[in-house]
Order: sequence, then C-alpha cells, then structure tokens
Amino acid sequence: MPVDRGKGAVTPEKKLLAGISVWRGSSGTSMSVSKLVESIRADVVVVGAGISGAFMAHALAGRYERVVVVDRRVPIHGSTSVSTAMLQFEIDQPLTKLGEKIGVHRATRAWRHSYRATQALVSLVHREGIRCGLERRHALYVAGEDMGARGLERESKARNRAGIPGEYLARPALNSKFGINRSGAILSSNSAIANPVQLAAGLLRRAAARGVRIYSPVNIEGVMATAHGVTLDTGQHFIEAKYVIFCTGYEVLKCLPKQGTKITSSWAVASQPHSSYPAWLDQTLLWEASTPYLYLRTTPDGRVIAGGEDEDVDLASYRSRSIERKSHRLAAKVKALIPGLSLNPTHKWTGAFGESLDGLPLIDAVPDMAGCFAVMGFGGNGTIYSVIAAQIVPRLMQGRTDGDANLYRFRD
Ligand SMILES: Cc1cc2nc3c(=O)[nH]c(=O)nc-3n(C[C@H](O)[C@H](O)[C@H](O)COP(=O)(O)OP(=O)(O)OC[C@H]3O[C@@H](n4cnc5c(N)ncnc54)[C@H](O)[C@@H]3O)c2cc1C
Repeated sequence: MPVDRGKGAVTPEKKLLAGISVWRGSSGTSMSVSKLVESIRADVVVVGAGISGAFMAHALAGRYERVVVVDRRVPIHGSTSVSTAMLQFEIDQPLTKLGEKIGVHRATRAWRHSYRATQALVSLVHREGIRCGLERRHALYVAGEDMGARGLERESKARNRAGIPGEYLARPALNSKFGINRSGAILSSNSAIANPVQLAAGLLRRAAARGVRIYSPVNIEGVMATAHGVTLDTGQHFIEAKYVIFCTGYEVLKCLPKQGTKITSSWAVASQPHSSYPAWLDQTLLWEASTPYLYLRTTPDGRVIAGGEDEDVDLASYRSRSIERKSHRLAAKVKALIPGLSLNPTHKWTGAFGESLDGLPLIDAVPDMAGCFAVMGFGGNGTIYSVIAAQIVPRLMQGRTDGDANLYRFRD
C-alpha cells in the first residue's frame, strides 16, 4: 500500500552543532559532489552523508549499479564533524548491566559484535589506505559513580567469559601504572582513535571511485513507498529507487517508533598541539563509569581531547550558551582525574547526541514503508554502530536476516 508521508522534511532539521570543533579545516576532506538538476532513478539511495552514510555507501558500492548519496548539507557537516572519534568496542552499557536489561545471551552477542566491528573498522581503514589519523589504543575504564571496584571486577570477569579481552586493575595497580586515584579500572586493548571527518571523506571518496554519485544540497521532503519502489520528493525533483536507507543521524525520521530513545546534548574541548601530558595517554583512551561520563583521548599531533558533561536537553540555544561553562567543568574534571594535567582548550564545541535505553542502536526496515531502512547509531560508540549498520542493512535488503540483526530492531 502506498504510504505518503507528506511534504516538509521527513526528518526535522536541527542545529546539530555549535562552537569550533578540532576537526575544522582538516586536510584531505574534499570530494566531488553533484547538483541535482533533474529527477533521477537509482537502485539505492542513501540519505545522509555523515559517517553512517559513508560506511553504507562504501559497503554498497559495486554491489548495485546505481547507488546515490544525498544530503541537505555539505557532506560531513552534521554530527560526524563534532565526534571525538573514540572508536571503542566498549558499549555505553556495561556487559553486566546490559545483561540485566536484555538477558545475558543477547548482551554477550551485542558486546562480541561491537568488538568484531571495531576490528573490522581498523582492517578496512588499513586495507583502503584511508589517511585519517587512525591509531590503535588501549582503553581504560575507571571506577565512577555508576560502578566501583567490585562492580568493575565483576564486569571484567563477565567480559572475559564472553571472550572479550581486558584486565581488572585494583586501586594500587591503577595508581602506580597511571597515577589515577580511583578504586579500580578495566584496562583493555584493541580500541582506536581517528579523525572522523577524514575517515568519512575517505570512505565517500572510495565509494565515489566505484561509481557512487553524491548529491548536495538535496533535502528529502517526502517519501512514497510502494511494493514497486520508493519515490523521494526533494521539493523540486523526484528520485525513484528500489531501496532507500535513512542514515540521518540525530535528525530522526518522523515516522519511526522512538520508544526508549532520546536526543540529548554533549560538549567537548581540545588543547593545542604538542600539549604536555603523561606518556601513557598516547596509547590509552580513558572513560569513567559515571553518568554522564568524562572521556579523554589524544591526537597524533599531541592535543588532548576531553568530552562529556552530557545533559538530557535537546535545545540548540542551551547547547551553545553552555560551551564556556562546560569547557571549564571539563578542564576541572580532567585535572581532578589526572593530577597535573592542565587543559587550556583552543577548541570548544557542542553537539546533539543520542541515547537509547539499552545503549544499542536502531538498525531496521522502516515499518509500513517497503524498501526503506533506517540507521540510528545512538550512544557513545555511534561510529562502531555505523560499521554494524553497513554490515546488516545490505543483508536485510536481500531478505536475509543477519544473526545479530534482531539485537538492533526497532523497539516499541
Ligand atoms: C560531542 C560529541 C562527541 C562524540 N564522540 C563520539 C565518539 O568519541 N565516538 C563515537 O563513535 N561517536 C561519538 N559521537 C557520536 C557520533 O558523532 C555519531 O554517532 C555520528 O556522527 C552519527 O553519524 P551519522 O552519519 O549517523 O549522522 P550525521 O553525521 O549527522 O549525518 C547525517 C546526515 O543526514 C543528513 N540529513 C538528515 N535528514 C536529511 C534529509 N531529510 N534530507 C537530506 N539529508 C538529510 C544531515 O544533513 C547529515 O549530514 C559524538 C557525538 C557528539 C555530539
């Protein structure tokens, strides 16, 4: 049955970001973009040219003859441009807590999938030779208000039972290795960091080299889905396709079930290049078991990036006017956690953020819209969820059910 979602953007437009992100002016991010001057046909349309759309386009390139990416902004000018790009397999919800919510078996599968996807991301970047400052990192998850020593020790054992690497550090070991005075931590290997804008640009350029066309600015205002295909209305032209994948980030499709998800706000800062900090920070990213949590990483040119201070508010004006206050708080929290580390931020920024109750993304066919799929990579490791989406959606398009796809279905 045809479903006409009517005129007006199918995803409400938001002011997604404010301030000056550390990635602004990154080199190697240009790409060839076309203007949409007439109605066109495609096999697959990916709506959204952020990191989710980039992984998706890269995965589909060569599998379908006519793959098109459209974005109402310049590519990679949405949330991806403000990500701090900690590429962690560690899901926001600890394995033990996720187990209580969705059952141990499903939680274990979600953690294992996240681990595999993180390794797949690193391999893909190396295989494709994408220059995006990708470096392997250990991850240090330190005790906080949500989990103390006992909880972390239990979490570490649960992860090890699930085959996920990591070692529990009690206070003395944490203090002597890292100079951090918290009751415990989990130290793991095989996470990574990158420049998210260069990563997305590298993927989009490689997709384009394999025939994918990128159109911008193109605002999708209406969708009509029938058993014979999907028609997208841009207000001026139509795009007809067999499949449409909405990779629209925190500008969520109006018609989707949103139970258990919310759009919030997050802030981040970065220090100048060649800052002084403990040497271990260049091998280790850090986050804490608190809500909201503070997190830290460095860049290859020696900046420290810190982020967090999340608030359950989705108000662009509040986000912007809180940048100074939040920057001070982030710098103070960093100093309290790592004595002697003074951040004098040269970059301060904010962005809309997304959370789901279980910390898992939503990746699924859109209900009542044949041929349409949506990807919402909620949570602190949204980038890894973009990788997972690019594995799952192409299989769903072929009518195959991925073993883990049911972990990420719409929950209502
Ligand atoms: C401060 C901050 C720090 C973060 N740190 C991390 C981190 O360390 N690690 C991590 O993994 N994640 C992090 N994230 C989350 C990460 O930024 C997101 O998971 C990711 O950027 C989402 O990418 P996306 O491609 O889905 O969305 P976006 O990058 O927003 O791309 C979606 C695109 O869709 C387009 N679009 C929307 N609607 C339409 C329409 N109707 N028509 C045409 N185009 C449309 C938009 O213009 C946009 O360009 C952070 C987020 C914030 C705010």
